[in-house]
Amino acid sequence: MDNQLWEGKYHAALERMDREVSQWRSVESLLRQLVGCLGQAARGAHDELDRHLDGVRDAIHGPADPAILEPLVSGLTDAVAGLQRPRVAHHETADAPPRVARTENGSSVQSALSRLVDRILVVPRLTERAANLRRDVANADTLVSLASCGEKLADLINEQRLALQREIDTLQSILRHVTGRLDEMTRHMSRELADQSTGEANGQALDASVANEMRLLGDAALEVDDITELRFQIGTRLDAINDCFREFREREGARLSAYRERAESMRLRVEQLETERAALQRSLEREHELAQTDTMIGMPNRLAYEKRIEAAHESWLVTGHPLSIAAIDIDHFKSINDTYGHTAGDAVLRIIGQALVKHVRPCDFVARYGGEEFIVVFDGADEAEALQVSDRLRSKIQLLSFHASRQHVRVTASIGVARFMPGDTPRSVFERADLALYTAKNGGRNRCVVG
Ligand code: GH3
Ligand code: MG
Ligand code: MG
Repeated sequence: MDNQLWEGKYHAALERMDREVSQWRSVESLLRQLVGCLGQAARGAHDELDRHLDGVRDAIHGPADPAILEPLVSGLTDAVAGLQRPRVAHHETADAPPRVARTENGSSVQSALSRLVDRILVVPRLTERAANLRRDVANADTLVSLASCGEKLADLINEQRLALQREIDTLQSILRHVTGRLDEMTRHMSRELADQSTGEANGQALDASVANEMRLLGDAALEVDDITELRFQIGTRLDAINDCFREFREREGARLSAYRERAESMRLRVEQLETERAALQRSLEREHELAQTDTMIGMPNRLAYEKRIEAAHESWLVTGHPLSIAAIDIDHFKSINDTYGHTAGDAVLRIIGQALVKHVRPCDFVARYGGEEFIVVFDGADEAEALQVSDRLRSKIQLLSFHASRQHVRVTASIGVARFMPGDTPRSVFERADLALYTAKNGGRNRCVVG
């Protein structure tokens, strides 16, 4: 394969990694906030715990170091778990641990945890664990059970980081291959250069020998009177010149065949490296494709959306063609889970996801953003057009027929629409769509609002 094309792919993969690492940083900062919330929620509940909290508070405000985050979460988890031990409390008894609903901080921990679980772009292998965790967070009704969710979250984050690390390792191994190939090329070049000088030296030696024989021939012509003797001298000199050429041909022949052998072995080596490189590249691409798919619904996930909107934003900057997005959130989805169970909830999400894919325009892009939220990119659509399609999607969702436990389940969705305006970034447009979605919820749900 062409080296430049290859290098382009490698750099694109590196850029992807950079983006993932920076998303990762924002998850970490949320995690720091969460640890803070957890600390506040538990403060005042236990004297020993308060001392522990004072220690970790300073660490939380220190520089963002991923290595200290996990010990912090599990340290706090242990400390909050201490709440289960009998103690003198103002408003709780020993066998009734503090309930989340009774403390404002407790419910802020719950929503911070919930946001965090949604923010983590888990690899497909971890999707199910993330879904279970989301469920546990939603159902957690004591600080102790929330703390245990915190611990599971720390594990999940750790595994996700390992998956990211594996990808970095794959890239590095590709890089090692390229470096190896370049080294080999350099060695080959210097061998050929040395060989070329040998060829030049052989040629010069031939020139010198022939010139010498010619000089001797000239001398003989001047010195020899006898024509027979002259003929003999000429014959001898010509034979000597012929010998020089024969020797030269033999030396050059040997040199050329050694060169051909080396060239062939070099070609085989390059071919082999190319095959290995292509296999690595394929596995990397497969991994990326999987990482951009929501395996539960079988549609693009949030990572895929981020890539899509970034590319759409770049071409919007160049062409100025209208570009809009819609953030879709299922109404009262928690009550569907609570009433009919999570399996029914999952099935509802799948049917809605498929309906969205079916009813957007061919040029639109739809992804599951996380949890019960979807997002659509309307390429080339202004606000009015995006609103029109969004409202059609909303009414399609309303018309979907679900049955669980022999009962008809009614499902609606609220939608926030926003278009790119001068100075906008994918983030700012998303925030406007999200705000519009919030307005749609507050306005009674099952409606579309433009932000
Ligand atoms: P609202 O109308 O305000 O959006 O209410 P809501 O109940 O839809 O919103 P809330 O954010 O309170 O709850 C969302 C629920 O979605 C909670 C979470 O457990 C559930 N959920 C998230 N992901 C999944 C999933 O993959 N499967 C199932 N079954 N439920 C999920
Ligand atoms: Mg939601
Ligand atoms: Mg919802």
